[in-house]
Amino acid sequence: VKACLQQIEKTEPQIKALLAQNGEEALKLAAEMDKQGPDASKPLWGVPVVIKDVLATKGITTTCGSKILENFVPFYDATSIAKLKEAGAIIIAKANMDEFAMGSTTENSAYQTTRNPCDLNRVPGGSSGGSGATVTAGQCFAALGTDTGGSIRLPASFCGCVGVKPTYGRVSRYGMIAYGSSLDQIGPMTRTVEDSARVLNVIAGHDPRDSTSVNCEVPDYVGALGKRTDLSGLTIGLPEEYWGEGISEEVSEVCRNAIKKAEELGAKTVPVKLAMTEYAIATYYIIAMAEASSNLSRFDGIRYGHRTKNADELIDLYTKSRTEAFGDEVQRRIIIGTYVLSAGYYDAYYCKAAQIRRLMRNDFEKAFESCDLIAGPACPTTAFPVGELTADPLQMYLMDIFTISLNLVGMPGMSLPVGIGKDTNMPVGLQLMGPAFGETTMLQAAHVLE
Ligand code: GLN
Repeated sequence: VKACLQQIEKTEPQIKALLAQNGEEALKLAAEMDKQGPDASKPLWGVPVVIKDVLATKGITTTCGSKILENFVPFYDATSIAKLKEAGAIIIAKANMDEFAMGSTTENSAYQTTRNPCDLNRVPGGSSGGSGATVTAGQCFAALGTDTGGSIRLPASFCGCVGVKPTYGRVSRYGMIAYGSSLDQIGPMTRTVEDSARVLNVIAGHDPRDSTSVNCEVPDYVGALGKRTDLSGLTIGLPEEYWGEGISEEVSEVCRNAIKKAEELGAKTVPVKLAMTEYAIATYYIIAMAEASSNLSRFDGIRYGHRTKNADELIDLYTKSRTEAFGDEVQRRIIIGTYVLSAGYYDAYYCKAAQIRRLMRNDFEKAFESCDLIAGPACPTTAFPVGELTADPLQMYLMDIFTISLNLVGMPGMSLPVGIGKDTNMPVGLQLMGPAFGETTMLQAAHVLE
């Protein structure tokens, strides 16, 4: 804990990965644990962790990157947090993020712009950019992120760390401030695959407080890693939609080399088709914004957070509180989400998107009939300079092209750092995707390839 806090002191003024810090409490807890001695029943005993600020942490300010929750201190822990604590992990800080997890660069945070530790002029990716940056900067040993459309995999790819989005329902969402409830998942971001497996072992599992968490056995992800030393017998599907046009040359080169390495290690590769990829951005942004507009209606200036000082009557109070405290991107999404759900447009937009979502799921299920895992780049480019895409939300949305399909179909995926791009000198992430509850094979393959 001390070493991590020192590293925070040294690197944080430049990187700005963190919001609330919990150093003093963390040191106290660590000292107490030291006194009692190591506890083998606690798999994360004494491990310093950082938590994305979208997760409720008892007694530690939880802002979700928004001014509307500026001074919100939860009186309870999210289930994932309770499980981390139970396993002996020590929370040292909360991580910066795009406001309400809406964004791909962490520039939408209402508080600060986090920098990529590999190049301070570049973005760390988002929306879990603080989590990616804190791990890569060596400020902690593991961070939790959340992934609604790529927010774990994209920053992992940009910062050069490992990031895992589990199957929808694998990890309880209780205590996660909802963005798109049918898409959101919590997952680990770490320096190694083994560390991610360790964290996933702890946070996975059924929770009666989240009706969408699935009641099926949690395998021992860590134990499984030792059971595979090569990739023989494994078939990896390569979707042409993920390897064709639109990918930068350096990303394509590094990812192709990683696939070559997988083949040398015994994997067989086959082409697969994910024809619905073309509609992924439109479908995702309709569904995510629709769900967001509904989820964010609870921030009304009455029950939590910011309340305007100059309201004349109730409606005026709602409007002014929300206008004052929500950022531009959040307001844009509430308006679009409300529009696609409104009578008269529901059938044309939301309902169509829900139908396409089903077809996408069929695509993936069909693809997994001929392969064990699917692989492609996590993002078309490496991390780009701060400010480059802020004026163009549509360009920003396009960055999610390779990550969002998986959230729509609920399947697990991860980004594994596989090299450095020759043009930008920045990390490149290979995305591995598995069928529902196929985390074990995915983590094993990543561990062999690492
Ligand atoms: N960039 C996507 C969005 O803005 C994904 C965000 C996420 O996964 N939380 O919606």
